[in-house]
Amino acid sequence: MIDLHSHTWLSDGDLAPEALCARALALGIRQLAITDHDTIGAHHQLKYFSNINLQLITGVEISTNWDGREVHVVGLLLDIDNTGLKTLLRHQQCLRKIRAENIADQMQRAGINGLHDYLEQLPCESVGRSHIASFLVDAGYVGSKQLAFSKYLGKGGKFQATIPWCDLQHATSIVRQAGGLSVLAHPDRYDFNRAKLKRLMAIFAEAGGDAVEVSYSNLHPEKMSALAQQTLQAGLWASVGSDFHTPSNSWMDLGRIRQLPAGCAERAIWYHPRWNIALPANAAAVYK
Ligand code: AMP
Ligand code: MN
Ligand code: MN
Ligand code: MN
Repeated sequence: MIDLHSHTWLSDGDLAPEALCARALALGIRQLAITDHDTIGAHHQLKYFSNINLQLITGVEISTNWDGREVHVVGLLLDIDNTGLKTLLRHQQCLRKIRAENIADQMQRAGINGLHDYLEQLPCESVGRSHIASFLVDAGYVGSKQLAFSKYLGKGGKFQATIPWCDLQHATSIVRQAGGLSVLAHPDRYDFNRAKLKRLMAIFAEAGGDAVEVSYSNLHPEKMSALAQQTLQAGLWASVGSDFHTPSNSWMDLGRIRQLPAGCAERAIWYHPRWNIALPANAAAVYK
């Protein structure tokens, strides 16, 4: 099996990079892209990882701004020593820290103390709202991370701080400079209608974007078919990825992805002319 979207605790995943690899091996994943939010730290840590049954693919998930909205771009097959890439990611990590401090101040004013110290002891390089949600759960302010988002950290929540992410076009250009392929992540999670998604895909393609995530966890088959059609119409390739964060979300486990729909399979990203690694024979098999 192949999985081209996953997280470690270098961003908001629960597992260390080595533990993620162990889980991938146990689940029969043959090719795995680690795509942490705005960090490639896991790939630096795994530089000497070697296992005949698991091929690691370098990657990152970059938060970007498009039309005043947050859109995620997954970069795959990147040179992790590329200077432009490292500079962009360092900047975005810095913005994330500033946002976390801003939220810590807002919380302090509301009588919630301890966020700063909680964040300091985490292993992450990219601090995110998911960590803040965990803090609120651990400290007993809310019963679940889901509730932490709806009550405090999500749209309309009590604690808000926006980040001026890089432009979508900047992300695709940096990924290209680092030798990688750009993938538009989880398109149905932006709440865009069909026309807006069509516009986004057209602009993404124009900006040098390569592919769209067509199959991912929890995506209804009908929606997947519609996405496949739009992806082909935009002249883009199709990617697949679970967006794995934690073993406790079984519906988003590694490799838990549907096969690409008919008509789209031959446009799988691993057939892209710049996909420069060989796939093991059974890599594109899917979770049943
Ligand atoms: P950030 O990039 O720091 O703004 O955080 C976004 C991340 O938070 C996403 O990648 C998800 O992992 C997580 N997230 C977003 N919304 C929710 C939610 N409603 N419940 C749980 N996790 C969420
Ligand atoms: Mn996340
Ligand atoms: Mn995302
Ligand atoms: Mn993700």
